[in-house]
Amino acid sequence: MKEIIRVTRQYRFCAAHRLHTDALPDDVNRKVFGKCNNPNGHGHNYTVFVTVTGEPDAVTGEVTDIEALDRLVTGKIVERFDHRHLNHDPAFRQLVTTGENLARVIWDELVNAVPAGRLDKVGLRETRDNYFEYRDTPPS
Ligand SMILES: [Zn+2]
Repeated sequence: MKEIIRVTRQYRFCAAHRLHTDALPDDVNRKVFGKCNNPNGHGHNYTVFVTVTGEPDAVTGEVTDIEALDRLVTGKIVERFDHRHLNHDPAFRQLVTTGENLARVIWDELVNAVPAGRLDKVGLRETRDNYFEYRDTPPS
């Protein structure tokens, strides 16, 4: 019988953003995004939850290489976004910097780079009350 385990690591970064889209007039942006549309932006202390799934290695008992995962996420996500303005990141040229989109951008960066196991889920805590989750549904 195959034993599948999920391993989750947390990472943190602080970043600024402004919820705004050029596809809508300014008054509609203000209505849709409220205070998050403030032209000066605002910041969050983000927590990213990276979940890797797989069968534990028969010898090490591990699903993935945590140190390699840490190097990957630190390099591709934390150092890229920490103390930056998300609206200035190339990934958000055509995307609003919502938690939904940020979770998907993080997923896209990691999905083909996880050291061992398979990326199962990216969770993103934006505020005390906002949590976003992205996972790909494999074709059935
Ligand atoms: Zn915000």
